[in-house]
Amino acid sequence: MKVPKQLFIEDLSPEQIKVIEGRMRPSQYSHAGFLNQNLSLREVIEADAKVLEHHGITHKQVGDKLDSLMGQAFRQWDLASRAGEDYYGARAKGALVDDFLRVFAVCWMGSQQCPFFYETRPSEDGIGHYVYNCGSGSHDFTVKNERQGTEIRFPQLMAHLVRDHHFFEGDTSYRLNPEDAVKVLELKSGVDYTPKTETEILWRTGSSTSDPDGDFCGSQELLRSAERTVDVASGIKLYLDGDKGLIVAREHVDIKEPLKIDGAEVCYMVQFIVVKKELIELNTSM
Ligand SMILES: [Zn+2]
Repeated sequence: MKVPKQLFIEDLSPEQIKVIEGRMRPSQYSHAGFLNQNLSLREVIEADAKVLEHHGITHKQVGDKLDSLMGQAFRQWDLASRAGEDYYGARAKGALVDDFLRVFAVCWMGSQQCPFFYETRPSEDGIGHYVYNCGSGSHDFTVKNERQGTEIRFPQLMAHLVRDHHFFEGDTSYRLNPEDAVKVLELKSGVDYTPKTETEILWRTGSSTSDPDGDFCGSQELLRSAERTVDVASGIKLYLDGDKGLIVAREHVDIKEPLKIDGAEVCYMVQFIVVKKELIELNTSM
């Protein structure tokens, strides 16, 4: 199944637009809807495009800036948590980006799927089905401009909607007014806001159990085949085999510093964990 990365109104037939508008009405793909009962998708997109054009700003700039702000905020909260701060305490304070934009996020159960592309295929076992979608999001964001005393609110999906569909939503509670976005984010014509990323190697925790002697996700094999072992702290031993590892603590041990294996950090730990080395792309600056 090939899912389109971008889909613009001029790529769609009148029949396809009608189907998408149907998904966007309140209580269809989302309770609040993306488009109220009477609005035309084409008219909303065309009116908002004129607003951006007037300011000399592109949809890509807006989408990239939103993605960059969200990515930097998650990165700041993650680093605060790894430095020992409570993750949700850090999130409650917001993340300061560019010295004047403070980003706050609220997470919801479940995620909101993009209404532009939605297809299903039966799974091989014939019981369920696979869902193919071009975008989704599970957070709502508020960005406050601290030098203006202004703010905008938008769902996580908005960066994708704006950049990849040129859509800011239409007259619903989740709409992002493009005029407000340009002013509050202080967007400048011609500036490249593409999020910058860097790669970091992290040990990601896989599975854990409270029974160190049971065979759990290949744990006994790892214990036998370990290429080397490391005494992490008193009472905690690490068994390493390639890009897999096993941490065994037979009793409760408090560790103040973040656990590092060959310089790469392990995010958190419980009694008995299988960890796996992964390369993770992180949004860091811009
Ligand atoms: Zn989409």
